[in-house]
Amino acid sequence: KYENVKIEDEANRRKQLSTDALRKKSRYVYLAERKDKKVNELEAELADEKYLFEGMKLTKRELDNIKFKEYTLKLAREHEKAQELENIERYHMPGDKSEEVHKNDRYSEDNRHPDSSKNAGGSANLNFEQRKWEDELIRAGLPSFGSKDKKEKDSRKTYDYVLDEEIQFVKALTKPGINEILKQKEKHSDYEDEHKKKYRSLQDVRKTLPIYKLRDELMKAIRDHQVLIIEGETGSGKTTQIPQYLFEDGYCVGEDDNLDDEEDSNDNNEDGEKKKKEDKKMMIACTQPRRVAAMSVAARVAEEMNVKLGREVGYTIRFEDCTSDRTIIKYMTDGMLLREFLSEPDLASYSVLIIDEAHERTLHTDVLFGLVKDIARFRPKLKLLISSATLDADKFSQFFDDAPIFRIPGRRYPVDIFYTKAPEPDYIDAAVVTVLQIHVTQPSGDILVFLTGQEEIETANEMLLERTRRLGSKIRELIILPIYSTLPSEMQIKIFEPAPFGARKVILATNIAETSLTIDGIHYVIDPGFCKQKSYNARSGMEQLTITPISKASADQRAGRAGRVAPGKCFRLYTTWAYQHELDDNTIPEIQRTNLGNVVLLLKSLGIHDLVHFDYMDAPPFETLKLAFEQLYALGALNHKAELTKLGRRMAEFPLDPMLSKTILASETYKCSAEILTIVAMLSVNNSIFFRPKDKILLADTARQGFFVPGGDHLTLLNVYNQWKDINYSTQWCYENFIQFRSMNRARQIRDQLEGLMERVEIEIESNPTESIGIRKAITSGFFYHTAKFSKNGLYKTVRHQQSVLIHPNSCLFEQIPRYVIYFELVLTTKEYMRQVIEIENQWLLEVAPHFYKTKK
Ligand code: ADP
Ligand code: MG
Repeated sequence: KYENVKIEDEANRRKQLSTDALRKKSRYVYLAERKDKKVNELEAELADEKYLFEGMKLTKRELDNIKFKEYTLKLAREHEKAQELENIERYHMPGDKSEEVHKNDRYSEDNRHPDSSKNAGGSANLNFEQRKWEDELIRAGLPSFGSKDKKEKDSRKTYDYVLDEEIQFVKALTKPGINEILKQKEKHSDYEDEHKKKYRSLQDVRKTLPIYKLRDELMKAIRDHQVLIIEGETGSGKTTQIPQYLFEDGYCVGEDDNLDDEEDSNDNNEDGEKKKKEDKKMMIACTQPRRVAAMSVAARVAEEMNVKLGREVGYTIRFEDCTSDRTIIKYMTDGMLLREFLSEPDLASYSVLIIDEAHERTLHTDVLFGLVKDIARFRPKLKLLISSATLDADKFSQFFDDAPIFRIPGRRYPVDIFYTKAPEPDYIDAAVVTVLQIHVTQPSGDILVFLTGQEEIETANEMLLERTRRLGSKIRELIILPIYSTLPSEMQIKIFEPAPFGARKVILATNIAETSLTIDGIHYVIDPGFCKQKSYNARSGMEQLTITPISKASADQRAGRAGRVAPGKCFRLYTTWAYQHELDDNTIPEIQRTNLGNVVLLLKSLGIHDLVHFDYMDAPPFETLKLAFEQLYALGALNHKAELTKLGRRMAEFPLDPMLSKTILASETYKCSAEILTIVAMLSVNNSIFFRPKDKILLADTARQGFFVPGGDHLTLLNVYNQWKDINYSTQWCYENFIQFRSMNRARQIRDQLEGLMERVEIEIESNPTESIGIRKAITSGFFYHTAKFSKNGLYKTVRHQQSVLIHPNSCLFEQIPRYVIYFELVLTTKEYMRQVIEIENQWLLEVAPHFYKTKK
């Protein structure tokens, strides 16, 4: 087997063989590869032809033809041999010395980076070196986009008149592409490709992806190894192609010797039996950290396979299952696969598990690592693929007992990186200005802007619309397309459509476009350097979504998006100094900065008791685990020995935060499950119920206030939902009342899903519309941790940590100031606000959480 071949041996053999074969490779590429023919195909073809012509007198042309084919075959054979050697290289074994070489090849820009001098020269020199480097850059750097050239200088003048503002960038470095040498040749044809691509069939497009050439090798590697780490640039085709290849190679055909299936033999009629045999198929799961990615990729693959989405190819995300009995390729969020362990602990219906985007290191992906590693041990036939976009592969390999790494060399063109000369005070504004600057001064090619979330994207969208309107026909058409997780899917598809001739696309995206989604045609990236990140304070138990500087690794990924189809440019809206000193090297894995309540509950339900010694790739801080235990104990999900209680088991049935699950279960006691389900569903669509257009704020606020009911915001949400339901879920009604129909629809969908789960925990749906106390007590049972008490200085203090907080101005309790309140979440804007608040009474706390409040007076 090749992985056993020694490195020196490899090198020697390579020397002998490669020079010859590789030199000829280019000809072979021309002759044979373009026709996609392999040695055995060529052999067969030639044999056929010789057989046909046997005994005949051949014309010169026919003879030439055969000679040509023989020659091609010879080259193809040599080439195949040479490629075999390449395989060996591509299988990187951990600890392999050739790794160093590899890395340098690929990221040789690092050599020019001051970072490498830091490592080599020690930190004493750093400041001096750093400043010198920057000085040089600034001196050498062009004040704006290449105004050296006279022609460009002129063009700059004209755009000065068009734009009121501009940002000064310094060009810092060029990230060379892998194909630098081929650049000149390919540049031209690739542009052409972009245009042609539209007209080519989907199947042809599939063949242009970098992974296509490695299909057979990859499939062989998968056959040979149970666990394989796959690493490749974003856009190489990992997510969309690998599941299809696996399907084509028969990984969905069920196996007869599967003993596990005996349990569900209750369908004893013959039809059922027969059907079961026919249906005996295995699924391929591919996890994604983000729901949009799961949906979008599934849609794409369904299209490529020419099936209806939800049939053979489907997706499952929280509260939405778009799969059927026929589904064989299933894209799902990592959280959903985690939940599948609850119903099927060995995941017996899957033949392959692909943990995709592993480099994102989300909480759920990290927990999956431990679980799938475990089941792979007792299911030898299960294939496990860990796929990632960056160079973390070694770490994954180590974790999975030194599993081999399969590298897909990506296409990447050089990207020029520009930094701002001075820090930008308002990065949204700076991003908007830069978009226009690029649009006016730069050749065609689409723009990708990274923002942190929906609100920012909407703001930037409005600003761009307004400014382009003002500029009118002075500039070419600019098509602005947002993409974020709650965007409806018909809008999501738009980002993939090529811009019409003469127009330019600008995509305003969240982190989703960093690696999960690949949008073709991007030449310019604007990177403000921020993302929204969860952070968790294990002492106070406070979890927050905050806008945080990204890591260097992220910044480099983002820049890479500009160089996928041609050389590109990346505009970083921060200084070189900031890049060096303010950005961490890598993002901290989510497991180390989030509340673990949900995951602890889930793992406990899977029978995993020792969570401190669970097989983590990076263990969570002990404090965080402890806090999760405490909270679950307080909620009654765990007993004093940290064992799962009956209540805990029932709570785990819901794909919700434990506090919400507890609220639902408590609704049984207060006979208001119908109302609580609605409230939980409304809370789950995160603050997008009320619509507040900028030009109609007053009207919108009046409309919102019209829904207020005594008791608090949860009850107001309930009121909105019930009114909407009474008017038969009308769109028009939403429109008239400044309610977002889309969010309401989603709440309805979530509510239906939750209602379905109520059977599993045997709770009847009961309604008690006139009684708000029961509803508020049920909420208190889940959220007693979130109690705040009014204190003298006009502020609230959280009962647990004596932290000062305020009621959010949008709350219906804003002016009432009740003594005790419970909040759904804290948001930090200018102050610490409680959002979604209800009024409660002191003694309810003792009633619903005596073990928690007894000790605290
Ligand atoms: P990887 O997972 O390696 O990053 P993908 O398999 O996601 O790569 O993407 C391969 C190609 O498929 C890219 O060129 C991308 O633009 C295209 N693609 C993926 N999803 C869609 C979609 N929903 N619509 C159009 N093209 C898509
Ligand atoms: Mg992918």
